[in-house]
Amino acid sequence: MSDKQYDVIIVGSGAAGCVVADYLARHTDKSIAVIEAGPMDRNPMIHIPAGYSKMLAKDTNVWAYNTVPVNGQERRYRMGKVVGGGTSVNAMCYVRGQKQDFDAWQEAVGDSGDWSWETMRQTYIEQERNDTFHNAHHGIDGPLSVELPQGINELNQRCMKAFQEYGLDYNADYNGARQTGVSPVQSNTDKGKRASAAVAYLHPHVDSGRVTLLTSRTVSKVLIEGKRAVGVELHWGSRVEAIRADLVILSAGAVQSPKILMHSGVGPRAQLEEFGIPVIADLQGVGENLHDHPIIPIAAFVKGKMGYQAAAQGVGMLASGMRYFVTGMARLRAMASRRCPIGTRITSPTKSRPSNAIMSRSFRRMASTRRVPARG
Ligand SMILES: Cc1cc2nc3c(=O)[nH]c(=O)nc-3n(C[C@H](O)[C@H](O)[C@H](O)COP(=O)(O)OP(=O)(O)OC[C@H]3O[C@@H](n4cnc5c(N)ncnc54)[C@H](O)[C@@H]3O)c2cc1C
Repeated sequence: MSDKQYDVIIVGSGAAGCVVADYLARHTDKSIAVIEAGPMDRNPMIHIPAGYSKMLAKDTNVWAYNTVPVNGQERRYRMGKVVGGGTSVNAMCYVRGQKQDFDAWQEAVGDSGDWSWETMRQTYIEQERNDTFHNAHHGIDGPLSVELPQGINELNQRCMKAFQEYGLDYNADYNGARQTGVSPVQSNTDKGKRASAAVAYLHPHVDSGRVTLLTSRTVSKVLIEGKRAVGVELHWGSRVEAIRADLVILSAGAVQSPKILMHSGVGPRAQLEEFGIPVIADLQGVGENLHDHPIIPIAAFVKGKMGYQAAAQGVGMLASGMRYFVTGMARLRAMASRRCPIGTRITSPTKSRPSNAIMSRSFRRMASTRRVPARG
């Protein structure tokens, strides 16, 4: 065990880890260390919204997992591995969770927690700094910037119309009174740059020295004495180190948090014993029941002035890049005009809430994409 000791260790600097670090830094005087397996978020591609697809295509700053075969085929399953976690590599769409989910969580936890929609809705509002909607559904002075497109290009205007002709009504704000309809996408960006959880919540405390951020260190297990967590074991290059803490918070994401728990001896007995891990708590459900949403891409190629190819390769790409760095608002416009709309619909008469989202996005043609002629 090293000499290092903190009151609180937070494992993972993703969406959850950054928000918890900020809360503890502001409301307590405890010493706090955030331990992150990935590097510092210095790569400029993280902060330029258009860098999103380029980073993913090259598996930069991600845990490059695949699923087990589903219908005979493995699928890519990526998560952020960098300061900010998923919020430094994701698509930046600001879409709030559904009331029904939070109410179900509340029912599950009973009096031991407060996940009710009313509390969560209030939290969303307090978090938010929305540049467009100044009404009862939105916040305007929180740490998390949310921006709407300042003008959308012709391709997306036509998509917006097409969704409406298909039967979705226009809804200016899917984070407002209702979630269904076709809308422009709201983005976690701040004046054209990615507004990750790290930017919004963590960096200010790291810069001021209030929170210690340890990067490129992978926590392998929680150290437990008796029934109490007393620290973590971490791997750093070829080194293995143990750090003590009074409180350990696991916020390493939906795959890694249960993995760390199981390596620590907390999980279903049969599985732990199969791998020779001493059982500290036989806890069914750890490492099971992952829910996520698949993306089903349907590609169409667009020619002429509505296309995106010209701006995404060769001289056009150079010109777009220059424009991005030289202009202020224009760079946000350039990004936002390619980012909408989003259509959300209820798919079955037996369901009372939206169950799928259709999104129109322009991508540079990848060599592997099959050519599907666009109509019109
Ligand atoms: C490609 C992609 C696109 C997405 N698009 C959107 C979107 O547009 N809108 C949206 O709302 N959501 C989107 N998401 C989902 C969103 O990013 C996640 O739901 C969110 O980041 C989850 O937060 P988290 O704190 O649970 O985990 P994460 O943000 O994944 O953070 C976990 C952190 O823990 C670190 N970690 C893991 N294991 C260890 C370890 N052993 N030791 C130390 N550190 C560790 C990881 O490196 C990571 O930084 C997207 C996700 C992906 C991958």
